[in-house]
Amino acid sequence: MDFRTMGIRAELLRALEDLGFETPMPIQAEALPELLYGCRDFIGLAQTGTGKTAAFGLPLLQRVDPDLARPQGVVLCPTRELCLQITDDLKRYARYLPRIRVAAVYGGASIAQQVRQLRGGSQIVVATPGRLIDLMQRRAADLSRVAYCVLDEADEMLNMGFQEDIDRILERMPAERQTWLFSATMPPGVAAIARDYLDDPRKVSLGGRHRIAPNITHTCYVMNDRHRYQGLKRIIDFTPGIFGLVFCRTRKETQTVAEALMQEGYLADALHGDLSQAQRDHVMRKFRRQSIRLLVATDVAARGLDVDAISHIIHYNLPDGPEIYTHRSGRTARAGRSGISIVLATPREVVRLREMERANAMRFEFRKFPDGRAICEKQLDGFVDRIVETPMDREAFADYLPAACEALAGFDREELILRFMAAGFKRFLEDYRDAGDINAAVRPSSVGLAGNGRKARPDATGKRRFFINVGRLDKINEGAIVRLVCDHSGIRSHQIGRIELKREFSFFEVARGAADKVRRSLKKVQLDGRWVQVRDAGRRKTPGSGLHI
Ligand code: AMP
Repeated sequence: MDFRTMGIRAELLRALEDLGFETPMPIQAEALPELLYGCRDFIGLAQTGTGKTAAFGLPLLQRVDPDLARPQGVVLCPTRELCLQITDDLKRYARYLPRIRVAAVYGGASIAQQVRQLRGGSQIVVATPGRLIDLMQRRAADLSRVAYCVLDEADEMLNMGFQEDIDRILERMPAERQTWLFSATMPPGVAAIARDYLDDPRKVSLGGRHRIAPNITHTCYVMNDRHRYQGLKRIIDFTPGIFGLVFCRTRKETQTVAEALMQEGYLADALHGDLSQAQRDHVMRKFRRQSIRLLVATDVAARGLDVDAISHIIHYNLPDGPEIYTHRSGRTARAGRSGISIVLATPREVVRLREMERANAMRFEFRKFPDGRAICEKQLDGFVDRIVETPMDREAFADYLPAACEALAGFDREELILRFMAAGFKRFLEDYRDAGDINAAVRPSSVGLAGNGRKARPDATGKRRFFINVGRLDKINEGAIVRLVCDHSGIRSHQIGRIELKREFSFFEVARGAADKVRRSLKKVQLDGRWVQVRDAGRRKTPGSGLHI
């Protein structure tokens, strides 16, 4: 599919070309044909980072009337950061449409200036709900000509308590407008908005059950609570070049962790609700420029945070539920990149990962914290690589070289190397000289979790185990099995338990009450065009005793 065959006007195509957008991302391929010309309401289940801004932004820019100097398209979004980001994106797309004006309306900034912007005749308004209500009350925002309303990150807006504001705003818009709702998840509140305000919407769900981007690796490290900070440090030290977002539970913890990291010389900072808007902006600018490499944040503060190159999400503390995990992880693996999400969990917390695995149809890989030696080797490799790769600028140093050579003349080659290593690398040696093993054993209460070496929940707990004759060699993953089973039997993904992928076949568990359905409906089914067989498998034997099917 090509942007040029979608009926997008030439000015917008030119801007897309400038931006280097060559092919539509999946949500764009699905949404653009509908939103550019259709007249139905729309629901797009997609996270940030999937290209949804262009999916609704291009149609808005194409459809509003430049001759009518009144708001015709309104985008509601949860945070100031997202509001500014969307506005910037829309302005970039509208680069060759000089008569279209886009206003950003959000709390925490001068309202007078926003009033002026609105009175100046912006056809598109990107707003956080609270501030838009304020402007409506001051009669500065006239919504009587709104033809398109976008609800972006609807689930987040509800999480942030904007339900009432959204109701009030939507009620003030003409009934014949189109409403386009985007959300990463579909909790009951969002479903209620869809029911109350959308008329026969076309629904597009990116990845179906798999709302978590497939290009994220989910890993878990288990330690005791007192080793949490050390665990974080080990992961950071073992990952030279990390550009990460570290999630903490409270503002205080965010501040404490960020300060500890800074004190030890890491390029880190904190983002939380106790900061003033100016401080937040300052931190965000530094993070965007990557002059800080680790941003320690609370969930609330990181909402709408939209930075493309984040390589790692570290859950310093477990998220409160599977949806929060989805949101946190969605900050990495953006714009086609891959990403890593790392959970630090105590043995007691491990059991909660199960819930996330089920709800998000994903699996955690359990890893061991690297020991001091592995970390030092990794750091040393990085240090030597940096030295080897740093270009030698003889000319620039010509004036200083003789003095340096003279000062170092007394050292032989090995001694010189040792001294350079000590200068560049001493901290790690000292930090990890006596560092012990911080990996904690997992309690029996968390058996049944997927992952390395963990035992399966015994059959007696109410699971039935099935055999299926496809495995890794068939290029399938756990998600493909979940989809296959749910699609054919009608059971829900949370009724599926542990999945064991082998080379040529696999096993999966199903809640006892759902087992009959699976037995009946999956005797012989097709997966990617080939017939596969599912049948009852025996109870899982203890490791090493072989399998019986
Ligand atoms: P969004 O989900 O709208 O925040 O988009 C995520 C990132 O993908 C942003 O950096 C966009 O600029 C980029 N992007 C959006 N659409 C495309 C496309 N068709 N090709 C390449 N990059 C894109």
